[in-house]
Amino acid sequence: MSGGGSLSSRIAGFQGDVVWRDNNPGNEASHYNLLRYQYASSSHSAISDYGRMAPSAILYPANQTDVVTAVNYVRDHGVSASVRTGGYQASGASSTSGGNVQIDMSELGVFQEFECFDVNGKEVRYATAVNAHSKKGETPIKTVRVGVNYALKDVNKKLGDVGLFVPHGQAGHVHLGGHVQTGGYGQLARAFGLLGDHVVGFEIVTAESAKKAAATGDSLGDGVLKVTKASHPDLFYAVLGGSPGNFGVVTHVTLEPLHDKDHPESRGLRLVLAYSKELLAQLAQRVVDVEALPADFDLSVTLVSSVAKLPSYFGDEWDSKLRAKFAEQFGGSRGAGAQQQQPAVILVYAQWSNVQGTPVTEQAKEWFAGIHELAKGHEFSPLSGFFSDGVKDSVHLPMSKLTAAWIYGSAREFDTPYVKRTYLSDFNKDQLQQNEWPAWVAERVDQIQGQDQDQGQAHGRHLSVLLQNIGGAQSAYVRNGAKGATSYSWRDSSVIAVLDYFYASPVHKAAALAWQAANDTEAIDHKKFSGTDRRLFDASYFRPGETFLDLNACWDVYYDSQEKYAKLIRVKTAVDPANIFTPNLFSLVANDYPLKHQANVYGLTAYIASLKAFLAHKILGDADPIFAISDEIDERGHTVWDDKSLLSKTGKPLALPDEAPVSRSPRKQKTAGNKPGSRAASPIRSAAFSPN
Ligand SMILES: Cc1cc2nc3c(=O)[nH]c(=O)nc-3n(C[C@H](O)[C@H](O)[C@H](O)COP(=O)(O)OP(=O)(O)OC[C@H]3O[C@@H](n4cnc5c(N)ncnc54)[C@H](O)[C@@H]3O)c2cc1C
Repeated sequence: MSGGGSLSSRIAGFQGDVVWRDNNPGNEASHYNLLRYQYASSSHSAISDYGRMAPSAILYPANQTDVVTAVNYVRDHGVSASVRTGGYQASGASSTSGGNVQIDMSELGVFQEFECFDVNGKEVRYATAVNAHSKKGETPIKTVRVGVNYALKDVNKKLGDVGLFVPHGQAGHVHLGGHVQTGGYGQLARAFGLLGDHVVGFEIVTAESAKKAAATGDSLGDGVLKVTKASHPDLFYAVLGGSPGNFGVVTHVTLEPLHDKDHPESRGLRLVLAYSKELLAQLAQRVVDVEALPADFDLSVTLVSSVAKLPSYFGDEWDSKLRAKFAEQFGGSRGAGAQQQQPAVILVYAQWSNVQGTPVTEQAKEWFAGIHELAKGHEFSPLSGFFSDGVKDSVHLPMSKLTAAWIYGSAREFDTPYVKRTYLSDFNKDQLQQNEWPAWVAERVDQIQGQDQDQGQAHGRHLSVLLQNIGGAQSAYVRNGAKGATSYSWRDSSVIAVLDYFYASPVHKAAALAWQAANDTEAIDHKKFSGTDRRLFDASYFRPGETFLDLNACWDVYYDSQEKYAKLIRVKTAVDPANIFTPNLFSLVANDYPLKHQANVYGLTAYIASLKAFLAHKILGDADPIFAISDEIDERGHTVWDDKSLLSKTGKPLALPDEAPVSRSPRKQKTAGNKPGSRAASPIRSAAFSPN
């Protein structure tokens, strides 16, 4: 799709807000720049990246009809649309550039329906269901229709209050819109699979459905497709795992949640341990060992390289409690202790879900006891016994309460840019052990962590590392995948390893890149962790030498077969033949689009600007157009989010293609705190610019 169309300043019939690009990349506080900000913005502020996350306009639909109107407007003007809900995509793929627009589903109070239905499909009032549940009655709810503009922590709470739960990720502010399409990997993966495995339907506006609605005038009847596995098997398959945002705009999903009552005696264990390399290696071995166990057992191990960040991991409530109680460790206020390296900790989350609903087994008791034994003497003492949310392996806690306890309340891991890796392994337990992967991964972490700890200095860098077993013959992640109803890839994987390196200055960026490159080489090329290169959509994998994150150039790390990739392109071509939803290179492209389509996707001017920057990097040693960030560091030691300083390196400001129509008067800022969907108070943005 071309970024070369030009927009008209009015969108006939569109009821929601529209914010036009103000062509002021250096002014961080401009209304447009505040609203275009998303999780990836902290890491991608270079010239080519301004091109990547600077839509011509941000459209906030007020309802489903508006989505249809927006899609038709996009098609009529010959541009493409990216779709954003939570804004957590790690490389900025939910944004776009050039003449293209962003359809943003995060308007406060919109796409936030939560409607419950019984076994007969009859609507059940939520309040009635809560009441029935609180009187120990069984909830009458069978399915729930949820708007995509729900943060995970809020869906979790709404379901939990009626004794229901679904598997999902741990980051509380990630939103359903993207999460349901990228999987929903989390602490319940072995027991219950992915979030997407519990989706029975969704509503989507595709390019073709919007076009039909324009012809018939029936926006809701023709414009919004109600997709189930039975009604549209290919689209159901493609959207759930195929490539988020490239098939259309999802407005609602229908979930079939699980019930606490079916899993009596479920229980969990949460430990906060003081970091040591040896302990991490032993815990990584435990992660590997889980493969042999029944599906009831889930174990994840997370290294957080500064305990000062930990309180906010657990959310605002814990944050203030911990800071007040342990002022020495965590600082009385958020700013304290920022320069000094605080101890690293390892979070251990262990869970026995009781999938079959039996009495608690001896195997479960022994497993928990073994983890306690390993942890003995390593407790991070300030936190021992601090949590009072009932997570204890000696007592039952309903699954919905356990899923709530695993959620991280913070908007992001660390408030600085990052270089990210998410790997999946195709090796089984014996191979991982034979390769000494547990010791290897601990050694890799210790290269950074050990040095910082020894010197007592933060060095402006932090690691966030997650190791989790999702596999084994009995794992629901594996078994659900084998059914083939959805297209999430790599469903026969064993272990997932997320290695994120956060850095506060350009000096450390080079170190971060080098560390991750060595991880790639050893883990994948030298087959320490996996025989094949397997990544997730949020992993942002650039092949060495790539200037753009181009899905067509690295599809083989995201899809488990060429047949699947080809099938997804066929579905894409059927629902979006003109590539309306191909807003950047990290997209599926209809009609077997030519491989080298940067210019078409981005618009010629942006492409040439990026190309020039790339050549300047290669020939003159100028800033790397993909990885460069601002050299400016603010008083807190954070990188200044300022495209201007980089643009000046090239000698001239970035010429934006297809200048947007005259900006309308600035939108009124909403002050809705952290309520779901509050974009003015976006947790991503506020976290990124708040002191540690
Ligand atoms: C700090 C952090 C922690 C994370 N933790 C986990 C985790 O524990 N488990 C896990 O599985 N993942 C995790 N992720 C990845 C995250 O779940 C995915 O990136 C998810 O797709 C984000 O959804 P979003 O709506 O918040 O983000 P967005 O950036 O808005 O969207 C992500 C993708 O989905 C598309 N999309 C969004 N909304 C819609 C819509 N309504 N219709 C069509 N397409 C849409 C976008 O175009 C984009 O490609 C994490 C990411 C971060 C940054």
